[in-house]
Amino acid sequence: MKKNVLIAGGAGFLGSHLCDRVLKNGDNVLCIDNLSTGRKKNISHLNNNTNFKFIEHDIVEELKIGNSLDQIYNLASPASPTNYQLDRIQTIKTNVIGSINLLELAKKNNATILQASTSEVYGDPEVHPQAETYWGNVNPIGPRSCYDEGKRCAETLFFDYHRQENIKIKVMRIFNTYGPRMQADDGRVVSNFINQALSGKPVTIYGDGTQTRSFCYVDDLIDGMYKLMHCNESIKGPINIGNPDEFTMNELAEKIIDKLGDQKISTQFKILPEDDPKQRKPDISLAKKLLKWKPEVSLEDGLERTIKFFQEKI
Ligand code: NAD
Ligand code: UDP
Repeated sequence: MKKNVLIAGGAGFLGSHLCDRVLKNGDNVLCIDNLSTGRKKNISHLNNNTNFKFIEHDIVEELKIGNSLDQIYNLASPASPTNYQLDRIQTIKTNVIGSINLLELAKKNNATILQASTSEVYGDPEVHPQAETYWGNVNPIGPRSCYDEGKRCAETLFFDYHRQENIKIKVMRIFNTYGPRMQADDGRVVSNFINQALSGKPVTIYGDGTQTRSFCYVDDLIDGMYKLMHCNESIKGPINIGNPDEFTMNELAEKIIDKLGDQKISTQFKILPEDDPKQRKPDISLAKKLLKWKPEVSLEDGLERTIKFFQEKI
């Protein structure tokens, strides 16, 4: 039977790909988004799909929606450091009050609810790679705290709603994900490097470029998210979803410049932002074991597809 699926943050980068995936499976999608960092353009191809409905709404405000929902995905939150620091109080409200509103909706509907959490709950990790058992190293009062602590509090809320109200929950910790429909100006490293290189500007490397990240292509990520939502109810997470191939920012810049094949592109070193994690790489043993999931798209292939997307946009 067709499911009714609410996707909060569905007009964003990941959310719009999730809308596509759920609709492809034949279910109905109710996309809720305040369009703060998302774009109507990301979902415009779905306008004529009778199984798709969009409502512009801020999840910080109560959601007055019927009681026929089967599943709720909470992806609503600014995600790039540039975006989540624009209005830090709104970022906390979205992650805390917004999560409560969606959890209450899950309670009213007896729906399963999935939280898009983040590797940022590990902060600047002292354990490498990061497994779900690691409690993290987060500065509670720094410039990134509104996001890190907001997401940590959301995880707490999910588990307390499960303990106290018996809500069916799924918590996934997403590691750096990239691909088509990223915002060109969101300040994230992949979108920055590609767009700088495409417009002939120097590629900006923060710090000395030796910090590491592990980049997951969007299709792999959505596959993991979908599997988590549809696996056995007893699997609640938290569960890491990401690509464990680890690269320095210097290596990433080199790869992108190589792919564009333009020797004239230069690099420019800039100050490292405060509290920028030095290394990040997911331990995905749990996802492999419980979800039978692992990423399939290499950084090489994923970058080519993403570069093509931005080239077509220009
Ligand atoms: P995004 O900014 O493209 O998408 C977020 C969406 O949420 C946007 O459409 C935005 O308009 C919407 N939104 C923000 N605040 C809202 C509010 N109060 N009410 C309603 N809608 C609101 O970012 P993304 O990369 O697609 O990230 C999606 C989710 O995944 C976020 O929760 C993010 O924290 C999480 N995540 C993403 C990554 C990544 O690398 N992309 C990594 C870790 C976690
Ligand atoms: N970064 C960079 N140049 C940029 C943007 C980001 O060197 O133009 C670095 C940033 O300092 C961090 C890494 O790239 O070490 C990943 O940054 P991003 O904002 O994409 O995500 P984060 O993992 O920090 O949330």
